[in-house]
Amino acid sequence: MPSGYDFHKNKMKKCAEAGGKRPSGSNLAANRQALSIQCKVCFQTFMCTTSRTLLQDHVERRHDKQTYDECFD
Ligand SMILES: [Zn+2]
Repeated sequence: MPSGYDFHKNKMKKCAEAGGKRPSGSNLAANRQALSIQCKVCFQTFMCTTSRTLLQDHVERRHDKQTYDECFD
């Protein structure tokens, strides 16, 4: 069983690692804006730069009963 000190130290290390990876607030807003394509069936969002091929791939994998036009405008 780890001592209280070691447990605390590990927890702090994990927090620091997570904090380093977290994007800043402005990046988060930009990312949200970039996710401008949304699947009408499952509401999954995609970057506005996502190619039609990838969207078509999503339709085929996730919604084999739907067509591309039913999932995306
Ligand atoms: Zn979908």
